[in-house]
Amino acid sequence: MSTSTQTDSGIVVAKLDDLLNWARLSSMWPVSFGIACCAIEMMGAMAATYDLDRYGVFPRASPRQADVIIIAGTVTFKMADRIRLLYEQMPEPKYVISMGSCSNCGGPYWQHGYHVVKGVDKIIPVDIYVQGCPPRPEALIGAFLELQKKIGSEHIINEKINS
Ligand code: SF4
Repeated sequence: MSTSTQTDSGIVVAKLDDLLNWARLSSMWPVSFGIACCAIEMMGAMAATYDLDRYGVFPRASPRQADVIIIAGTVTFKMADRIRLLYEQMPEPKYVISMGSCSNCGGPYWQHGYHVVKGVDKIIPVDIYVQGCPPRPEALIGAFLELQKKIGSEHIINEKINS
């Protein structure tokens, strides 16, 4: 967010991209979905102590109302189709946070976990990876701050015009 100008009459002139990005990064709505122990830390991050609401982060019960999905936990092959379906049900533009070692690469199951997908990015595209087993809530909050930076640098108007 950079290119806004205030005129003498108090009117602020800004690019539409910047205005839209400001609105989008100030209201990220993750679909409430957790699949293993990392989900406990995700729920902790959403609770009163950390107050993620201050960043405009409101969990939603439906993927159709969400623009972020946090994959917090162990992704089994049985769960893979459900995750892909949830992702496909989210409207564009949408983002994925991979939370924890299991979701990033298979975690403790990377070698002998015959039932575990070795990284959720084999199913859906990931925007932000959060390290840890499990990551603390502060790390997830850091992921949202990184996601804000990413959203703030996007040019969705130009992309729509050129597509
Ligand atoms: S990364 Fe660790 S804490 Fe998170 S789901 Fe896997 S085993 Fe559990």
